[in-house]
Amino acid sequence: MSAPHTLSVAELRAGLDARRFSAEELARHFLSRIEASGTNAFIDVRPELTLAQAREADARLAAGERAPLLGVPLSHKDIFVTRGWRSTAGSRMLTDYVSPFDAAVVERLRQAGAVCLGKTNCDEFAMGSGNENSYFGPVRNPWDGDAIAGGSSGGAAASVAAGLAPLATGTDTGGSVRQPAAMCGVTGIKPTYGRVSRYGMIAFASSLDQGGALARSAADCALLLDAMAGFDPRDSTSLPAPDREDFGRDLDKPLAGLRIGVPAEFFGDGLDDDVRAAIDAAIAQLEALGAARREIHLPRTRLAIPAYYVIAPAEASSNLSRFDGVRYGHRAAEYRDLNDMYRKSRAEGFGREVRRRILIGTYVLSHGYYDAYYLQAQKLRRLIADDFQRALADVDVIVGPVSPTVAWNLGERSDDPVRNYLADIFTLPASLAGLPGMSVPAGFGRGGRPIGLQLIGNYFAESRLLNVAHQFQQATDWHRRMPSDA
Ligand code: GLN
Repeated sequence: MSAPHTLSVAELRAGLDARRFSAEELARHFLSRIEASGTNAFIDVRPELTLAQAREADARLAAGERAPLLGVPLSHKDIFVTRGWRSTAGSRMLTDYVSPFDAAVVERLRQAGAVCLGKTNCDEFAMGSGNENSYFGPVRNPWDGDAIAGGSSGGAAASVAAGLAPLATGTDTGGSVRQPAAMCGVTGIKPTYGRVSRYGMIAFASSLDQGGALARSAADCALLLDAMAGFDPRDSTSLPAPDREDFGRDLDKPLAGLRIGVPAEFFGDGLDDDVRAAIDAAIAQLEALGAARREIHLPRTRLAIPAYYVIAPAEASSNLSRFDGVRYGHRAAEYRDLNDMYRKSRAEGFGREVRRRILIGTYVLSHGYYDAYYLQAQKLRRLIADDFQRALADVDVIVGPVSPTVAWNLGERSDDPVRNYLADIFTLPASLAGLPGMSVPAGFGRGGRPIGLQLIGNYFAESRLLNVAHQFQQATDWHRRMPSDA
């Protein structure tokens, strides 16, 4: 079998339908690559479960069923709960937790016939920008083993970049699909808030959390998102949208007449020169494809960090109160009384960053500080969203960098939470506004580390973003490059 880990989903589909390989052979191929990989991208792999799903897909194929993802393998971020595999959220708190049900995303993809290869590593409860906050250790960047993979969906992005999975689910609260996609040189999309059901997605900050798709190309992301998205009555913020979207419907549209907005605030101090050069070249490429460039302003960009790092910890402190040593997960072995049991179980079960956020969140929600911090942050959030609406009245898509730097070295920033937070400056605004965003491979910078171009669109503009990304990918080959040992 010729290297199936280099094939697109359309090519995998053609191979499966023509019986050039079976779903089981495909699954075995990827499982053996996962076993040999040194990236630490996966937390839980159970070949017997994967192969059983693959054989089911083969039976459906043999019965004549045809569907875009039938028999195609994929990885799930370990934030989506799964029956069979462990569901840990990268936390010691849930090390041995096995869910009695599948998350909506997992269930939908199973029905679509996709074959689960296992659960991918992530920052603990998705809190992080580098995937260094996982109880199971950091993920190594497939392009450079000394570099972070980006967070929090680092395992998801690395699984695609290293050819361990053709498709990966991820989640994005403040950039966690786009950031690791950029740093690992793969394509990622976070749709409009409410597109993908949060049912069974372990909650971090519920008003921001959104499932997304990672793959090598925009065309593959569209296929994955088609299967993930849709209304779900079990999620109260799920958008009443058609049950079956065709996110790839505009892929082939030419870009002539497209108005792209370049926000001055995304190109100021703090943006590394290598990233700036790659993004400038990508914008020039879009212009060569017929797009018209306009300078725009998102004046409250710098307020996104303080607003997000009040709102997200506030919601996290509430969401994580369920992990009390009684209902889920880790319980301390010895304790004096009930309060001591709560205290010890939580102190042992949660890592440093999670404890820090619970403390910040509890503080900003407490009497006397609520108005000063939490309410102020909510007002900023509204102003940031208004900035986008003003800008998007004149342009179709906003373009800029995903991250101000390429992936940093493992350990380099682990003692400096604020430096980690600052790396989110360009991804947080769209998250706070609930807008769809993408990262598209756009070259390499310092140390040969990948760079991602960010695309942000208005609500429900996913097919437009995928169209721009796809046209860009017809004219460039950044997304086809693979690290040398993959
Ligand atoms: N880096 C951000 C944080 O640490 C965003 C993480 C995410 O999107 N899950 O909160």
